[in-house]
Amino acid sequence: MDRISFNRPFIVGKELYYIAEAVIKGHTAGDGPFTHRCHELMQNRFHIEKVLLTHSCTAALEMAAILCDVGPGDEVILPSFTFVSTANAFYLRGATLKFIDIRPDTLNMDETLLEKMITPKTKVIVPVHYAGVSCEMDSIMKIAAKYGIFVVEDAAQGLGARYKGKFLGSLGHLGAFSFHETKNVISGEGGALTINENRFYERAEIIREKGTNRRKFYRGEVDKYTWMDVGSSYLPSDIIAAFLYGQLENIDLILQKRREIWEFYERELSPLAREGFFELPTIPKECEHNHHIFQLILPTPQLREEFLEEMKKNEIGAVFHYVPLHLSPVGERLGGKKGDLPVTESYSARLVRLPLYYSLAREQQEFIVKTICRFFARKSVQIGPVLEM
Ligand SMILES: *Cc1c(COP(=O)(O)O)cnc(C)c1O
Repeated sequence: MDRISFNRPFIVGKELYYIAEAVIKGHTAGDGPFTHRCHELMQNRFHIEKVLLTHSCTAALEMAAILCDVGPGDEVILPSFTFVSTANAFYLRGATLKFIDIRPDTLNMDETLLEKMITPKTKVIVPVHYAGVSCEMDSIMKIAAKYGIFVVEDAAQGLGARYKGKFLGSLGHLGAFSFHETKNVISGEGGALTINENRFYERAEIIREKGTNRRKFYRGEVDKYTWMDVGSSYLPSDIIAAFLYGQLENIDLILQKRREIWEFYERELSPLAREGFFELPTIPKECEHNHHIFQLILPTPQLREEFLEEMKKNEIGAVFHYVPLHLSPVGERLGGKKGDLPVTESYSARLVRLPLYYSLAREQQEFIVKTICRFFARKSVQIGPVLEM
């Protein structure tokens, strides 16, 4: 166990009290009172037409793939620099995955490469808002509209963040949030599908309820419920929703705390960044982010390894990600090879994430910063300024 772990789940308000309430009041299956409260809160707060809680962001992405009628022969454009679920949700439906390279500043899909990847078979574009910093959504939505393509936002990391004033998850046709314990707002496992076009709503309810119209039945709109469509069980227990509601109603507190931690890293590490030891995150001016990740980009993969080794020695849970999907065993089976996506390959080999979570104390942060400064002080003596490597 590290002295400072990479992540720690946290309680911010009435989460446990609400769980007790859900159990005592006797509704613990899905779509109970707490699920509805979460839906209302998120729809109002993030200006999203409809929100449906799911048991994970992965589930929400799977639902989106079904809603877009993705099937064999359809092409889906997505970054290779992402979590595996972005790909799997569409791969599961038999789609052909087309991996797009990323921008070196935000590590988001490079929208300037998008148009030339579009073919008559392109069905969906999946922008992943890395670290809760928005993709260049105006350009992406414009290209999608021109060719009649769906946009599904992977906003797993994007809750509460904005692009030109609009909340992530409200920008594409569909979107997906995650409440996994490593995200900003958590419920252990958890997620939500966001629906920004009404035409998807009725079918989404059915897909989420095992392909039945059970939600209509509960609302008294039909006198029996039955099998209507494909579907699965994508809804979370109301126990999960109860925990989540305790977090969501305190989202301002959570975001503020993360902002303080993120800005401390930025302030304390800027001098080293100016000397060229690493790059700090870049936030374009149209993006208001949610301080989800603090990453450093080191000059070389070898220095990244040494850096991680040093963190480990000091029991600091720094980590890296992602192994580019096009170079994973599945990606290689699909024809991916080294050199396909130069920016993805270069940045993913040099990236480090620092611990960043609600209960991370200032003294812990100071220790992390000190350890980093000591490491680079030693490096610059050993090998001279890294800029010249
Ligand atoms: C966390 C994450 C997911 C998966 O979320 P789950 O809720 O664990 O299914 C998908 N995409 C991205 C970009 C993520 O960061």
